[in-house]
Amino acid sequence: MSEFKEFSLLESIIDRLSLKGYKQPTPIQKECIPALINGNDLLGIAQTGTGKTAAFSLPIINNFGRNKIDIKTKSTRSLILTPTRELASQIMQNIDDYSDGVGLKTKVVYGGVGRQGQVDSIALGLDILVATPGRLLDLIETGDINFKALEVFVLDEADTMLDMGFFNDVQSIISKLPKNRQTLLFSATMPAEIEVLAEAILTDPIKIQITAETVTIDLVNQSVYHLEKANKIPLLFNILKKPDSEKVLIFCKTKYGADIIVKALEKASITAASLHSGKTQTVREEALQNFKDSNLRVLVATDVAARGIDVDNITLVINYNLPEDPRNYIHRIGRTARAGKSGMAISFAVENDIRQLINIENSIGQVIPVVIEQPFHQEFSKVPKQVKKKVNKTNKTNKTSRPRTKRK
Ligand code: AMP
Repeated sequence: MSEFKEFSLLESIIDRLSLKGYKQPTPIQKECIPALINGNDLLGIAQTGTGKTAAFSLPIINNFGRNKIDIKTKSTRSLILTPTRELASQIMQNIDDYSDGVGLKTKVVYGGVGRQGQVDSIALGLDILVATPGRLLDLIETGDINFKALEVFVLDEADTMLDMGFFNDVQSIISKLPKNRQTLLFSATMPAEIEVLAEAILTDPIKIQITAETVTIDLVNQSVYHLEKANKIPLLFNILKKPDSEKVLIFCKTKYGADIIVKALEKASITAASLHSGKTQTVREEALQNFKDSNLRVLVATDVAARGIDVDNITLVINYNLPEDPRNYIHRIGRTARAGKSGMAISFAVENDIRQLINIENSIGQVIPVVIEQPFHQEFSKVPKQVKKKVNKTNKTNKTSRPRTKRK
């Protein structure tokens, strides 16, 4: 018997979960679902990949499905606020999947697409509204939505909101919500600003901390290639010839860089698209969908656009540029090795990246093996003197070595 049955969820939800192939609840679901059905507030330190969308949405679907009410025009019973358009539409897809047959009214709203359809849906009254901050504020300002009927508020990826500069918008939205509500706050990390916010908006919350990161990282076969900048594209082609590169996500630093890589790949008849904030929403959605459907072999993304995206069966993640923030390394490589599968992550490092590389290794507590048997390998000579190596766990694979003499 599925353990989901123990949560006394509506039968139709249980059926949808088994259709989706969910056999057991994930750890965050085990802890959240009963507490949230009971109406508790929640502070969840967790990121995407842990199953948190179902953890917060199943109780909402269940409670609203059991207690249907006549919803007034321009109002919503619940609001899920999330930072990016991709996350918003991913959450909406999941909710629509889980709630099929329950008969709830749901809508996702974000910028970059027409607003009239969004206004019309909200005018009917909603059970669940998923939104990004900018478009929601716009709809509030024009009087197209009010929160008089709000029962549940979910703030998703609070730390990303902060990183992306949405924090004032989020606070302004929260100031419009009724005080008497159930509140759930999720964040992968807890910077001081989020702690203060959590203190202010949560009442006696249950606290859950799930670190998917440590789980994920052990399933990813990581390596780093030392090379000269001019050899990055040739090395990329070389790697893409290998059989384990069927579905490849490449991270790079700039929008411009992403477009250049895509052009080079297309010239070589490799299907590819870029995902970054310089593209229109329709083009971004199309690119992501084509990648999900395996119509594209390679997706080239910047960190912000790709944060939290959930695509099955990515076999290889390539860091064409190393992330500046070491935390993004884990977010990036966690795009492969989803749902217990293994995956590969390859990073390109030029000599000037050595400090960034060491920061990443210190943050993950592992030395990333260097692949030296490759046509473009370059020995590095400069090593910053003041860099202290804190890592103690090595992660060796064949044909790789760490030039230890060069680390002081
Ligand atoms: P999330 O953290 O919500 O982005 O979920 C990550 C992935 O795990 C998504 O592809 C979900 O469909 C999947 N997932 C969520 N809950 C379960 C479960 N109980 N069993 C199997 N897969 C799940």
